[in-house]
Amino acid sequence: MASFRVHAVVALVGSVGAASYVGALNEFPLYWVGALSLLGFIGGLAPDVDSGETKMARYSGLFVGAILTLLAYLLSDSYIVALLAFIPVVKISQFGIYKWTTHRGVFHSIPMGLLLSITVFYLFDFLEFPHSYSVFCGEFFGGGYLVHLVLDELWSLRKGISKRSSFGTALQVFRPVFWKSFLATYALLGCAIYKLPFSN
Ligand SMILES: [Zn+2]
Repeated sequence: MASFRVHAVVALVGSVGAASYVGALNEFPLYWVGALSLLGFIGGLAPDVDSGETKMARYSGLFVGAILTLLAYLLSDSYIVALLAFIPVVKISQFGIYKWTTHRGVFHSIPMGLLLSITVFYLFDFLEFPHSYSVFCGEFFGGGYLVHLVLDELWSLRKGISKRSSFGTALQVFRPVFWKSFLATYALLGCAIYKLPFSN
């Protein structure tokens, strides 16, 4: 797998470049461009949530905790509820991520990338951003995600034929060993697509 630094640099340069282009073309406000860059960047790092490292679980738990706390705040409209929810949510997410993710599991797969991109779209749509902008948000996250998977595959090729065992474990659509998580991902993806405004 490509190193954290490689993923971070590629994701940062790629998403800032793409966001500036899209932003200029559509005359988006600056903070919208910033949000698109950030989404692309996060998408480019997100698959390594299943790297099986404690450090990654710690950061991802913090990230999930921050998102859920923000949602709790938006729904309850109270700082106190959000602050009280923060620490338990972070701790539970960190434990869950560390416990249930395996290296190069379902997070290094195309269906998971699609599912998370659609979730990002729903999140921005829910926050009442214009429809077309929410679609861009999903696409930027998904684009970053896909670039990460492609980079991982390229890296496993670079190591040479003798060590190619990890080839094909990043850009995957199904893996029998992880059939349960793949099945769950496809089921959720089905629901998410079914609910999409333009799919019916
Ligand atoms: Zn990776």
